[in-house]
Amino acid sequence: MRPLVAHIDLDALRHNYQLACRCAPQSRSVAVIKADAYGHGALACARALETDVPAFAVACIEEALSLREGGIKAPIVLLEGIFSADELALVDQHRLWISVHSAWQVEALLAYSPRQPIPVWLKVDSGMHRLGFSPEEATSVWQRLVDAPQVTALHLMSHFATADAKDPSYFNRQMNTLKALAAKLKAPLCLANSPATLAWPAAHGDWNRPGVMLYGSDPLEVPNEIAQQLRPVMTLRSEIIALRELAEGDQVGYSGRWKAKRPSKIAVVAAGYGDGYDRHAVDGTPVLVNGQRCPIAGKVSMDMLTVDVTDVPDAAIGSEVVLWGAASNGSVLPVDEVARYCDTISYTLLTGVLPRAPRRYHGAHV
Ligand SMILES: *Cc1c(COP(=O)(O)O)cnc(C)c1O
Repeated sequence: MRPLVAHIDLDALRHNYQLACRCAPQSRSVAVIKADAYGHGALACARALETDVPAFAVACIEEALSLREGGIKAPIVLLEGIFSADELALVDQHRLWISVHSAWQVEALLAYSPRQPIPVWLKVDSGMHRLGFSPEEATSVWQRLVDAPQVTALHLMSHFATADAKDPSYFNRQMNTLKALAAKLKAPLCLANSPATLAWPAAHGDWNRPGVMLYGSDPLEVPNEIAQQLRPVMTLRSEIIALRELAEGDQVGYSGRWKAKRPSKIAVVAAGYGDGYDRHAVDGTPVLVNGQRCPIAGKVSMDMLTVDVTDVPDAAIGSEVVLWGAASNGSVLPVDEVARYCDTISYTLLTGVLPRAPRRYHGAHV
């Protein structure tokens, strides 16, 4: 069988979730498992976390329903709320929580008679200008919803554009506006994503919403002591399937992008963009061969990529190659580092791993 596998360490997932909770002991933390738990498999991750978390968060009702079908009974919040009014019947039936970010959603909710009141997170635009009401609009919407029989557990929620930035001034202005609004409305708050959970205790609310940190990725631009304790959850691992000796000047791969500057040993690895490995990986992007860092040499192909293993004497057919995550010898290649070489972020690499790379689960509840 093709050796490429995405190994998922559910104990690391639980460790990272506990770390998020320890960052914010006064808050409750929803575990964000949208986009198939950032590519890790939402149901397996939800099962591993269910005894620890007070609620899960997903983007949309399809994601929530597949968790319910899989037997997940914990509360689930829909971060983008409903996409059409007829979803409210399912929201009610499956006891989902919703965010409300637009006027039409308010009207749909107030025109509906649920069997039991629906927990609602009212979304305020923090200045990102994506979803949510302005702080002024939010005041009047809050007043309509807070006593409505359709609604219970009303919260204010907002999402920061710049929680991962070095300069906190924009972030602080947004946060002060939101806190003033919450104080005026006596509203419980839910603000913090992973970077704010890790680095901005002032943003911790009644609830936090850590996502990518649960999977072991550090979203911050500056070193952070807590983030250093995160453990990678996904290890994308394959093997060397062929080796060749090249003379100085020989080229490798499509368009001959990489040229040997010395007599070189090149390993062919079973992993390519057809598995979700990013084709933007430049020459020099690291992988771990037998736990030793080696540079990618040549363009990534659909099913294969090529690595310069001249300095790895024990590289052989069948040798372990870790594209990101933890090698058998304990060395770690953070997905964040690979992402920088691909001019992207860990989120796209993790959510981009395609079904051809089977997920194999280890640890908790397997
Ligand atoms: C995805 C998402 C999160 C989690 O963000 P991370 O950066 O992955 O921690 C939190 N809140 C909302 C509204 C989201 O859409």
